[in-house]
Amino acid sequence: STPAAIASALAGGARRGLLVKGGAALETLGRVTTIAFDKTGTLTQGRPRVVDVAAIDGSEDEALAKAAAVERGSSHPLGRAIVEEAEARGLPIPNAFGGAAAPGKGVTARVLSGFVTVGSPRQAAEKGLLTAAAAERVAALESEGKTVVAVGEGDRLIGLVALQDTLRPDASEAMARLKAQGLRAIMLTGDNARAAAAIAGALGVEHRAELLPQDKLAAIAELRRDGPVAMVGDGVNDAPALASASVGVAMGGGTDVALETAEAALLSDRVSGVADLVALSRATLSNIH
Ligand code: ADP
Ligand code: MG
Repeated sequence: STPAAIASALAGGARRGLLVKGGAALETLGRVTTIAFDKTGTLTQGRPRVVDVAAIDGSEDEALAKAAAVERGSSHPLGRAIVEEAEARGLPIPNAFGGAAAPGKGVTARVLSGFVTVGSPRQAAEKGLLTAAAAERVAALESEGKTVVAVGEGDRLIGLVALQDTLRPDASEAMARLKAQGLRAIMLTGDNARAAAAIAGALGVEHRAELLPQDKLAAIAELRRDGPVAMVGDGVNDAPALASASVGVAMGGGTDVALETAEAALLSDRVSGVADLVALSRATLSNIH
């Protein structure tokens, strides 16, 4: 019977690390036409490392230490990587006060005598901090697939920090399997257009870049006009997108907020598990109809 088929599919999935919170979510997964992915922590491992520090005004160490001071209050993967690098270099990290985060943009705090901002080059450009020469260095680093954050102090740009993340080993396989299942896959990211294009190109997936949190919601609403959409994400900042999709899927190693918001989770932390979820749901649907 129908409830028994669903119960057995849910239990079978759970044994394979494919957690679905109920029959309704399972049914939706069997009908989705598009799967949207967050980039950082979902298609990549979410452990970016600092690979370059460029001093613009002052020394490399000063820019990195001040950036780390601001990021010490941040849980963002880019922030954690900056603090780790400053610590690895044995730099003294000054205290920061009154820190504030602008989701999808960056963080600001008072450090020593000035206000330090660490965030996207786009935000630095909007604030008039990015000189033409600095913008050129940013573009060169981003073309290599790196994420660059600008470090500003007051009205000066003091440095650039370039970070690089690693693709999940099964991310390409996941995209190929979804395509074979007849699904549209798309990466939605707040990261810069050049780095996003490099990563999406390596995976062979459609993408949209430089999206603020509200832009990701608008993108999901637009995709939903063509059919049910699953959103796969891991971070605190992904929770609104997970909630606005037809069905949210959290990475098992993701944040508690993502796991609580989503209706399904990939406990193995293999992103290709989303193709397994679709297959399981489709098999269950065809058994009960
Ligand atoms: P993603 O979609 O890849 O998860 P986010 O929306 O979290 O990216 O962030 C988008 C961009 O905003 C980052 O690439 C970075 O430029 C900037 N940003 C956000 N938070 C921070 C932070 N704590 N420190 C520095 N830059 C940040
Ligand atoms: Mg993420």
